[in-house]
Order: sequence, then C-alpha cells, then structure tokens
Amino acid sequence: MRKHNFSPGPGILPVSVLKQASEAVLDYKGSGMGLIEMSHRSTDFIEIMEEARQRVKQLFNLGDDYEVLFLQGGASLQFTMIPYNLLDENETAAYLETGQWAKGAIKEARLFGNVDVVASSAENGFKNIPKDFVVPGNAKYFHITTNNTIYGTEMFEFPKTDVPLIADMSSDIFSRPVDGNQFSLIYAGAQKNMGPSGTTMVVVKKDILGKVKRKIPSMLNYAIHIEKESMYNTPATFAIYVCLLTLRWIEELGGLAEMEKINIAKSSLLYQEIDNNPLFYGYTVPEDRSRMNVTFMLHNQDLEKEFVQLCKERNISGIKGHRTLGGFRASLYNALPMESVEALVGAMQEFAKIKG
Ligand code: PMP
Repeated sequence: MRKHNFSPGPGILPVSVLKQASEAVLDYKGSGMGLIEMSHRSTDFIEIMEEARQRVKQLFNLGDDYEVLFLQGGASLQFTMIPYNLLDENETAAYLETGQWAKGAIKEARLFGNVDVVASSAENGFKNIPKDFVVPGNAKYFHITTNNTIYGTEMFEFPKTDVPLIADMSSDIFSRPVDGNQFSLIYAGAQKNMGPSGTTMVVVKKDILGKVKRKIPSMLNYAIHIEKESMYNTPATFAIYVCLLTLRWIEELGGLAEMEKINIAKSSLLYQEIDNNPLFYGYTVPEDRSRMNVTFMLHNQDLEKEFVQLCKERNISGIKGHRTLGGFRASLYNALPMESVEALVGAMQEFAKIKG
C-alpha cells in the first residue's frame, strides 16, 4: 500500500509516472536498453529533451525569445548562477526576503554585487509576504521566491516592475497557470512538482544575457548551456525523462487550470480543518497561505509526538515541520491525491476527539 506522502521534497510523484519510469529503467521503448544505459546523444534521449523543453514553453506560454534548460546543482546553484551571469560588482540587484531559501539566494548574490533587500518578513517569522515595497529602477533584476517551502507562504500575484523579474518556483512550479512572459528567468529544482532530484529547470529570456563584464566559467554560463542545448556536459537523463512524464501527466489531467482547481480543493480542505480544530492553528497569515506547503502547529506542543504517532498508524508520512520551525508541514504537491488530505484531516479530527 502506498503511503499518504506529505514529504516536502523529494516529494510524491504520480503512480503512472513511477510505473513508466521504472519500465524505462529496464527497457526504454523496446530498444533492448534501459534509459539510464543510453547515450544522452542518442535519438531517443534527444527526443525526450526536446519534448520536455517544448512542454515547459507551452505551459508558460513562451515564444522563441526564451530558452528552457535542464541543469544540475539544484536550485541552490541557481542562487549563484543568477548573479554570476547578471550582476556586475558595482551594480545592484533587488531581492524580496520571504524565507530561508530567499535568504540563501541573497547570501550568494552578495558575493557578486550590491544587494538591495526591498522588503523582508523576517521580523514576523516569515508568516507573510511583504506587499509594500519599491524596486529601484536601476536594479539589474528583482528576485522573488514564489512559494516559501519552509514557512508555507505563497505569492499569488507577482510584482509589476520595470526591471527583469526572476523567480525561484521550486516548490510551486506548475501548480497553477502562470504566464511566464512576466519573468526574465524562472528556476525550479525538479524534486517537488516535477520529478526526482538531480535536475533543475531554468527558463531564461535570452535578452538578459551577455551584459556582465566578468568572465564566466563554462559550467556556470547560461549562454553556453543554451548554445549546447543543455548538453554541454552529460545531463541528468533519467531525472529529465521523469520530468517529461510528469509534464505529460499534467496535460492528461487537463492542464494547469485543472491542476489549480485540485490544488485549491486540497489545500482548502486542510486549512478548514486547521481553523476549525480546537487543537491546531495555522502558522502563516491567512491571505498568504501556500497551497503547496501547509504549516500548522499544536497549541499544546507536548502532544506533537503523540500526533505524529497517530499519523504513522494512519499510514501518513512526512508531516513533521522543518527543523527551524517545528510543528507540522503537510506538502500537498500536484501528485498528492485528495484521499491523502482526507486521511490527514481524519487523523486531526480523531486526535481532537481523543484529546478534546
Ligand atoms: N528554493 C526553494 C524554494 C526550495 O524549496 C529549495 C529546496 N527545498 C531550494 C531552493 C533548494 O533546492 P535544491 O536542494 O535543489 O538546491
């Protein structure tokens, strides 16, 4: 029996995707070879890469002025690559500080140039997304984190700025329709809503490149990865294939509008229980509640272990909060079925009956 898997990432993937992926490990499309034994220069793999890139472009409504890359080094390496490629030493980049991952991006950018943190919700324990801020017109770019995986806040409206907008979408990529044309660069580690760890999707608008004075090492240079079509070095072939299967699955399900409907239904059900259950409360301010990572606490922290134990008995896994925050975090990524949310809600109600 499969677990109700609320893991924050690597996270749950659709069963149909796992089945196809495991078949491909043994024998890719009757070729007599497993996909992970196959050259990345083979026609089979080049087709996979091309379809994956094409699907990403379609989902974001992007034209030829954008390129899609599948790189390695995680979303964390993008914290470095972005300023390396876009920010000269005497220039300024604007960042919105909405959580640990945003802080990580800011820390790296400071190695390359000036960083203007236009707003931060740090003082508030990152319970909300700052709304009032001004992005200086001379900033080279403005970096946001659309979903804050640890604290459980999400941006549903994106700032309108005159400077290129860059988004870390690692934990809410393809959870709803988003017009990619608002952004000059989007990146996401695959391991939450797309596939296994090992590859990071980067969407980049070509006109932002080639403007810094510094020399950029090849492996960190977007222009080189674009020129070599994500094959400057050996790409993470299997991880990219699983991403492709997930992208196909999204289309089969009805696309991003349908995905969003399901995600609203799942998260609403859980937040409703958090608000109604006398034992629990939500961590973040209601208007910025994430649909992907739902953070909640017990009024009486001494009961945490007991609740985790009850969840375990109900086949529920992965709901322990991040070590910096404590409490609970239920990650409701695209592939998590409604029944899993119902199981968690059921466990919370059962717990309230026992303890109430
Ligand atoms: N950004 C966000 C929003 C994340 O949630 C994570 C990982 N949880 C990262 C960046 C770092 O990703 P990676 O581990 O792929 O470097």
